[in-house]
Amino acid sequence: MDNELKELYQQVILDHNKSPRNYGKPENYNHFAEGYNPLCGDHVDVYIKVENGIVEDVRFEGSGCAISKSSASLMTSIVKGKKVEEAEKLFDNFHDLVTGKLDDEAVISEMGKLAVFQGVRDFPARVKCASLPWHTMKSALHDEATKITSEP
Ligand code: ZN
Repeated sequence: MDNELKELYQQVILDHNKSPRNYGKPENYNHFAEGYNPLCGDHVDVYIKVENGIVEDVRFEGSGCAISKSSASLMTSIVKGKKVEEAEKLFDNFHDLVTGKLDDEAVISEMGKLAVFQGVRDFPARVKCASLPWHTMKSALHDEATKITSEP
């Protein structure tokens, strides 16, 4: 990772960890999942309100390391207002980005701030921290389970 990206990575993580966006259980939601990363001890609950195929609201609660918290904060900021299919596509891209499968610079630059998480690919334990909120979001959209564990 070049220095510019490294600096941005630290800035984004510090900022979202200090003041997480969309934090707290909402009054209205119709999708929910609970995520847990046993390797680090990160917990994240994701609440989503889907209406007419659009993610009208997405919020989270939980406790964990700076990476999981900032990733959850950024995930909710980016997914909010998107179509469900777009949210799933973002999940795929994010997953490929942090596991090192995505190297297409054009796709990465379209991901905006999410691109800073590219740096975790060199740290397998951190990959789970970064991807946990995304796995939980996807699980909530599908209501697949009430409790999930992140797999990179
Ligand atoms: Zn963690």
